[in-house]
Amino acid sequence: MNIKSTRKGTQLAALLAKEGIKNTRVLDVIASTPRELFVSDALRHKAYENTALPIGQGQTISQPYTVAKMTELLLEQDIQPNTILEIGTGSGYQTAILAQLFKSVFSVERIKALQFQAKRRMNQLDLHNVKMKHGDGWQGWQSKAPFDAIIVTAAAANLPESLPLQLSKHGRLVVPVGEKTQALKCIDNKQGEWVQTAIENVKFVPLIAGALS
Ligand code: SAH
Repeated sequence: MNIKSTRKGTQLAALLAKEGIKNTRVLDVIASTPRELFVSDALRHKAYENTALPIGQGQTISQPYTVAKMTELLLEQDIQPNTILEIGTGSGYQTAILAQLFKSVFSVERIKALQFQAKRRMNQLDLHNVKMKHGDGWQGWQSKAPFDAIIVTAAAANLPESLPLQLSKHGRLVVPVGEKTQALKCIDNKQGEWVQTAIENVKFVPLIAGALS
């Protein structure tokens, strides 16, 4: 899939490079993904600002810097990662970025209306390597495991224990952990041993455990 980069997308990518994003594949995909497609008409004029924006249902489209940072961390592995699990589809913006960098993307969202909308956007962009599920991502997606990478785009009060178990041998999980103060963490599967690294502080809506709304 090859979407053409836009002037505003290119400007956003340049800003993120200044903020410290180094992976040129990530920057290229940011430049070519129309973020305006993932927000409401009323917020379209802010689509290329480096900020999170409301997407309804009390949820937000993540800040572009955070999307880029997490994606960069997911690609920083010993082996080329092919499959990825995303928890918290939301607007589908992060999903669309991942779909252009990974062979297969699996994404779980607990709010059906958001999932439907995100699915439509994937079709609009001709991104057909994404499988979506409506459900509680706290449990991961066991029947599709193992994944080379897992990303959680909502903050877990504490580390969801089932997720590291769904990583492949060299896999990496990137997850914000905490409530008021949240730390972005990488959990690496080093031959069955879990190595945890804290990267930086972030701000996400909470990962809600349990029943669907
Ligand atoms: N990456 C998304 C972020 C959306 S906000 C974007 O940029 O648009 C986080 C999303 O996680 C919300 O859509 C919320 O409904 C979802 N979420 C929260 N808890 C969840 C859970 N347990 N399982 C699946 N999705 C969850």
